[in-house]
Amino acid sequence: VADNLSPTQRSAAMRAVKGRDTKPERVVRELLRSLGEPGYRLHRRDIPGTPDAAYLGRRLAIFVNGCFWHGHDCPAGRRAPQTRATYWQKKIRGNVLRDAASLTLLALSGWRALTVWECETRDLGRLRQRVKRFLARF
Ligand SMILES: [Zn+2]
Repeated sequence: VADNLSPTQRSAAMRAVKGRDTKPERVVRELLRSLGEPGYRLHRRDIPGTPDAAYLGRRLAIFVNGCFWHGHDCPAGRRAPQTRATYWQKKIRGNVLRDAASLTLLALSGWRALTVWECETRDLGRLRQRVKRFLARF
């Protein structure tokens, strides 16, 4: 399917969709290290949803989601695509459905999951508290 994106734009988009090495993801990894919680594994494909960070023994999964690509209910997530709107909206709907299915699968297999949204990484103090509470609880 042609999508009118240059190869550079497309790979940036796919990276954002998959959440690989995006800036929000780097922010969260740095936060986990600063909280003294370094034992996470990255992008384990054998865990439902391929979490951005996972603590295998504790069965804790952390997802870092781009607001636009994962359809967050925030201004960035509600932004309409400028080009190929139908194509991207369909793609985003697919991501939202897949995210929900992954969270259900994780819960069914005894995992606890935390979703961190890109927009939350702009308030580091608040995000730090949220992540800290999640890790302390389980
Ligand atoms: Zn958001």
